[in-house]
Amino acid sequence: MRFPLSMTAGMATYVFKNKIRPRPEWQKDVVPQFDPSNPFRVLPNRLPEGVAKQRHPMIKKRFPIVLMLEPLHACNLTCTGCGRIREYESTITQRIPLEECLAAVDECGAPMVSICGGEPTMYPQIGELVAGILDRNKNIYLCTNGMFMVKRLHEFKPDRRFFFNVHLDGLEKTHDIAVEREGVFQEAIEGIKAAKKAGFMVCTNTTVYKETDMKEIEALFEYLLQFEVDGHQLSPAYGYSAVNDREIFMTRDDIHEKFKDVDLMFKRFHLNQTPMYLEFLKGNRDLPCTAWGNPTYNIKGWKGPCYLITDAHYKTFEDLMTQTPWDNYGHGNDPRCEHCMVHCGYEPSAALGINAKLADSFKMLSWALS
Ligand code: SF4
Ligand code: SF4
Repeated sequence: MRFPLSMTAGMATYVFKNKIRPRPEWQKDVVPQFDPSNPFRVLPNRLPEGVAKQRHPMIKKRFPIVLMLEPLHACNLTCTGCGRIREYESTITQRIPLEECLAAVDECGAPMVSICGGEPTMYPQIGELVAGILDRNKNIYLCTNGMFMVKRLHEFKPDRRFFFNVHLDGLEKTHDIAVEREGVFQEAIEGIKAAKKAGFMVCTNTTVYKETDMKEIEALFEYLLQFEVDGHQLSPAYGYSAVNDREIFMTRDDIHEKFKDVDLMFKRFHLNQTPMYLEFLKGNRDLPCTAWGNPTYNIKGWKGPCYLITDAHYKTFEDLMTQTPWDNYGHGNDPRCEHCMVHCGYEPSAALGINAKLADSFKMLSWALS
């Protein structure tokens, strides 16, 4: 099975319960306020009068599915496409205290926590943080560049709900260029080997840029088979305004072209993305942005509206949910969203069954059980 049965069943039950009875206060729409200090003016919703009422009902059932928790933004690398280390340069030495991280997990209530950053294995109490989240019966992805895995492995205990998610953007030469340092690929592979040997679940996470050769990604997955890696995530790069190199980012058409043969990969390897999200990447399905499904918490608070764009940091999760003008974001509503197809904005839409087709339930079931 792709994921442990308890994890799949728990997630499905959580989504079902919230679809039936979402918290009413999170469903209200906020009237956007123009902010003259914001150079990226939020455009008024372009949908004609009345169209909002006809939208898919699930768009109005907001609740969190995956919490993106960034306990720190410090990192030992300076990858070319990284928005985080640039956007949060002024607070890069700060860390969220352990108790505050766990309080954010409780406050949000999402059944899945993706611990990211920065490099989370540089967080001094990372072992305690993971243990504390598992104690709360949540599932965890620990996103890492893999360089400190061997050194810090003893701080974790294997658990079917806990995955290391190792960032690999290609085979050795390509990856080391992307992360701007030689030897990183090999260290990450050593980390994967050590973690698998110790009984941990390990996935990989690959960002696809304009220059990415999808044949090389296939070769990477082929190479990783020998280590019995438990799954792979693929995500098209988002063009952060904090990253100057516009050449590496893709338009929606570029993304469709890049992912057109992803089905072949899907058949051969364990891709962790839902079949619906992959259809969206190929251009065969339309999905709206449901950024509230993957809220982000970091040193400045609850980041709104999403993991990528920062228009505000809110003090409480309640404030993020109730004060963000959600309808003003997504493709067609805000120019910054025009080419965004990243999983943290659109995978929740697939999980919620927005724009679902007749065969989707069967596809989801066979994907989860494969
Ligand atoms: S490893 Fe991750 S956090 Fe560190 S620079 Fe690279 S992309 Fe950014
Ligand atoms: S479309 Fe992308 S950038 Fe825009 S709000 Fe959604 S996730 Fe964020």
